[in-house]
Amino acid sequence: MSSHYLSPEQNRRLRRWESWNRGYFIVAFIALIVVLVFSSELGLSSADSWGPLGVVLVLLILPIIILQLRLRCPACDQKIGWHAKLMAPDQCPHCHRFLRSKQSA
Ligand SMILES: [Zn+2]
Repeated sequence: MSSHYLSPEQNRRLRRWESWNRGYFIVAFIALIVVLVFSSELGLSSADSWGPLGVVLVLLILPIIILQLRLRCPACDQKIGWHAKLMAPDQCPHCHRFLRSKQSA
């Protein structure tokens, strides 16, 4: 085993995932609020139909789930998935490698 830390390149990949993940989460959160506040004005929901609003909510939330499921440990290539939340965890739950490079520690 060479190192318990990621290489700078692996670290860059992970940080890129984090910024995508965080960026999308913020966009989706704002969109969610806008949709909920203006849903009746936008004609997305009425007293008897929540169908279109439901579709919009699913479309907003689905990429969050996909982003989470796409995160893999750069070292052992195991999926980290729901351990991640908004940021990658400090350590890979599979190979226990620190998920950052030594330089940025
Ligand atoms: Zn790992």
